[in-house]
Amino acid sequence: MGLEQVARPGGPGTVVLRVSAGRAGDGRALVLSDDDLVSRLHAEVAAAVGITGDPLGRHVTRWTDAFPQYAPGHRELVAAIEQGLPAGLEVAGAAYRGVGVPACIGSGRAAARRAVASATTDLG
Ligand SMILES: Cc1cc2nc3c(=O)[nH]c(=O)nc-3n(C[C@H](O)[C@H](O)[C@H](O)COP(=O)(O)OP(=O)(O)OC[C@H]3O[C@@H](n4cnc5c(N)ncnc54)[C@H](O)[C@@H]3O)c2cc1C
Repeated sequence: MGLEQVARPGGPGTVVLRVSAGRAGDGRALVLSDDDLVSRLHAEVAAAVGITGDPLGRHVTRWTDAFPQYAPGHRELVAAIEQGLPAGLEVAGAAYRGVGVPACIGSGRAAARRAVASATTDLG
């Protein structure tokens, strides 16, 4: 569990904190109620950054299984997938060569370039 981002002010004397919890192999956050999860995260963040007051409000969104988890051999697996695709078909996105938005954009652009090159080759 950890503090991910300190966000914009939520009003005079307040801040909005976005806190993320959980990772592959750590299901603690999944079994806690929203109240217990917020309480645990608040205690952790408060201790880390010196917050003394209680939260004024909270909103919990659960993104279960939202992030692809790359296992050992992932690069080789992706290479095999890409090599096995028929001409003109490309794959892109978080499952392949990086989960973050910049990596996904790069992956999409590279796939688009390959698709255009393939189509151009097909046209002779
Ligand atoms: C809570 C959260 C916070 C994040 N924060 C950050 C961050 O701060 N910075 C960062 O760099 N990354 C962040 N990420 C990661 C990043 O946002 C994702 O990895 C990235 O957006 C994934 O892009 P994608 O194109 O692979 O998939 P998606 O953005 O999920 O796009 C897939 C699209 O395919 C559509 N789709 C799915 N199935 C079908 C179907 N059968 N038919 C038609 N359409 C379908 C979906 O509706 C969706 O529009 C975060 C992710 C999450 C979940």
